[in-house]
Amino acid sequence: MKLDFLWELIFPSSCLNCKKPLQGKEVVCDSCLEEIPLHQTFFCGECRARLPDNKKICHLNFPYLLAAASDYENAALKNLIQALKFQFIKSAADSLGKLIIRYAEAIRFEGSDFLVIPVPLARERERKRGFNQAELISKTFADHFKLPLAAASLIRPKNSPPQSEIKDFEKRRLNVKNCFSVQNGEELKGKHIILIDDVTTSGATLYEAASILKAYGAKKIIAFTAAKT
Ligand SMILES: [Zn+2]
Ligand SMILES: [Zn+2]
Repeated sequence: MKLDFLWELIFPSSCLNCKKPLQGKEVVCDSCLEEIPLHQTFFCGECRARLPDNKKICHLNFPYLLAAASDYENAALKNLIQALKFQFIKSAADSLGKLIIRYAEAIRFEGSDFLVIPVPLARERERKRGFNQAELISKTFADHFKLPLAAASLIRPKNSPPQSEIKDFEKRRLNVKNCFSVQNGEELKGKHIILIDDVTTSGATLYEAASILKAYGAKKIIAFTAAKT
């Protein structure tokens, strides 16, 4: 179903944030996108401490390093993520991809030997939505940095309730426990991996995804998201 097309018909093409008219298919205009403040460091996945020096990681045994471009509290960014996730406006993924790329460049990320893997949606949810937003963002990111995209390596057979509907941290963790499976696991062995999702809240989903990738022999894992809460 072409929901984004319907949206374009029903609503005039104006920036979701500043309401100025738009030229292309984006949902937030270029100047609003550029005004979203970016973080300048990686974060510890466990305690969320800023890591200005990537050699000094506080929780070394945590399965991933968090690379969150900005904060969910930012109105323009929140608009973009909600447009993508809840109103199914596919073109918002391009803007989120661009934001993550700009952040990766700001923190001087160099990852020529990384494999890019989107956090998968449960099959049923992806079928209803028509796309996986993390996969769209991953494609933009992988194209830009000329990295291989391995969208089929991580799958999510189990359809658990959306994390956004669960407030309690412990329940979020249990909700996603063992929800992922790996296909062609031998391809992951010894690889550095970039996991991509639109937003991270408790980090439970990324933890679950990173843990199974590690179990299949992945080495360094960096989780890039457009936002963290
Ligand atoms: Zn705008
Ligand atoms: Zn830490």
